Amino acid sequence: QLSKYKTELEGKLYHEIGRFEKSTGICAECGQHHVLTLNDRNFTCKACEVYQSRDLSAAKSIAKTGELNLIAAGIVARVAPTSQQKSAIKTKVFELSKFAVGTEKKEVA
Ligand SMILES: [Zn+2]
Repeated sequence: QLSKYKTELEGKLYHEIGRFEKSTGICAECGQHHVLTLNDRNFTCKACEVYQSRDLSAAKSIAKTGELNLIAAGIVARVAPTSQQKSAIKTKVFELSKFAVGTEKKEVA
């Protein structure tokens, strides 16, 4: 929940993949699946022979799965730059406070 909040705060897209989506033992380079035991912290891909960390390749696989899900769902993963969003909000607040001050002065006079 916190990472979803933080991601959206930064104007980025948050997407969760299925809890049972397979990620461990998938080669980050070619996508080859491997059966790993819990003791296999690293493995060498049997297809492309790239030696990799089990956790790192799993993380890359999760990121890839998420990306493919978004493309499959037809979601355009393009968000306006955070700097532009923030400046729009700031301008609004500034204009409102300026108006409030002006009204106050008129009432006093
Ligand atoms: Zn591979």
